[in-house]
Amino acid sequence: MASDPSARAPKGTVDMLPATARVWEHLLHTAEGLFSLYGYEPIYTPIFEHTDVFVRGIGEATDIVGKEMYTFEDKGGRSITLRPEGTASVVRAALEHNLTANGQSAKLYYAGPMFRYERPQAGRLRQFWQIGVEALGMPEPSLDAEVIALLVRFFEAVGLPSDRMRLSINSMGDDACRPAYRAKIAAYIRDHSGDLCEECNRRADTNPLRTFDCKNDGCRAVMAEAPLLRDELCEPCATHYAAVKAYLDHLGIAYEEDPSLVRGLDYYTRTVFEVQAEGLGAQNAIGGGGRYDRLMEEYGGPPTAGLGFALGFERTMLALAAAGVEVPVPPVAEVFVARAVAEVAGDAFLICDALRSAGVAAEIDHQSRSLKSQFKLADRLRADYVVVVGPDELATGQVTLRDMATSNEERVALGDLPTIVLDRLGR
Ligand SMILES: [Zn+2]
Ligand SMILES: [Zn+2]
Repeated sequence: MASDPSARAPKGTVDMLPATARVWEHLLHTAEGLFSLYGYEPIYTPIFEHTDVFVRGIGEATDIVGKEMYTFEDKGGRSITLRPEGTASVVRAALEHNLTANGQSAKLYYAGPMFRYERPQAGRLRQFWQIGVEALGMPEPSLDAEVIALLVRFFEAVGLPSDRMRLSINSMGDDACRPAYRAKIAAYIRDHSGDLCEECNRRADTNPLRTFDCKNDGCRAVMAEAPLLRDELCEPCATHYAAVKAYLDHLGIAYEEDPSLVRGLDYYTRTVFEVQAEGLGAQNAIGGGGRYDRLMEEYGGPPTAGLGFALGFERTMLALAAAGVEVPVPPVAEVFVARAVAEVAGDAFLICDALRSAGVAAEIDHQSRSLKSQFKLADRLRADYVVVVGPDELATGQVTLRDMATSNEERVALGDLPTIVLDRLGR
């Protein structure tokens, strides 16, 4: 069985087993709680879209569209692509359903799997999980600062210490100032073609700004001397960027300006940002995003401001592990109801049901285990308490309540059990 490839999850995918799925849910619940404080509402778009949604939105010359998409023809002959990221779908949906018509704004968040055909490595899977927000219809720089703060505060909320992460920001300019800068970088690449890798040379024609992202040491050295967009921003872009920084300063959010931060997607305009975590090596970005004020026009919509971020589950988990942060995972059962002898199985069953009805996570054995094995199971389920149901105690209307942390045992009247357990659990 194990040697049969079809018996294993496809390369670059993982089964999210309960221990990991619990961590994902913890991150998701943290996100839901925090994002709702900032006015975000959930949105679920299809996991696949017409391929064109991503080609138009993300850009033909990007690595994602050029090499990494899972694209196939469906039975109706349509070109379909599994979503490689969340923004394009959300913007497509917002346009389709007029969420930003008549000057309305929308704040949306999403969570779920994304798909890219990449070489799998630590923190990089072909099916990976992201949580993200998109804020549509709001051009002011206060929103940029708010969204950036939200990303940083999410990582703080899940326990990543501030000194283990670094926030980088940059401005990518807009249609008024970027084309001239792109041409300048393309010319710079051609002037230094001998010192740049083949890929970067190709980028001169397709996507020159991506050359800043090359991991090749030679290319990095050349690009470190390249002209910076920061110095070429038009007046409105420079004013916007300065205001974003001022708002971040007001909020006390620490950041570094990284003029080489360009992010890999064509749709960004003006503000881009990224949070990097310590201890992850070269793939250290755990979340990032930017403004995309032209994206909705790519889908034939009216000019509509947009801004968002996405954070990766796998990398966030790695960052938390590297920081020694244990994500609080609730026990499978708060209380395990054990029976001393088979004769009291019916009573134990009803006691367990009464606890569940009272809102306590309670579990019982369904495999005829011995009392000793029931205690082992209780341990495995990380139960805080075990209720032992025995015939002698039952005769006096009582059960034994054992605190698994202290090994303290006490007799408790059956009728009081749910109340006492809830009280012990602090509820
Ligand atoms: Zn290169
Ligand atoms: Zn500009």
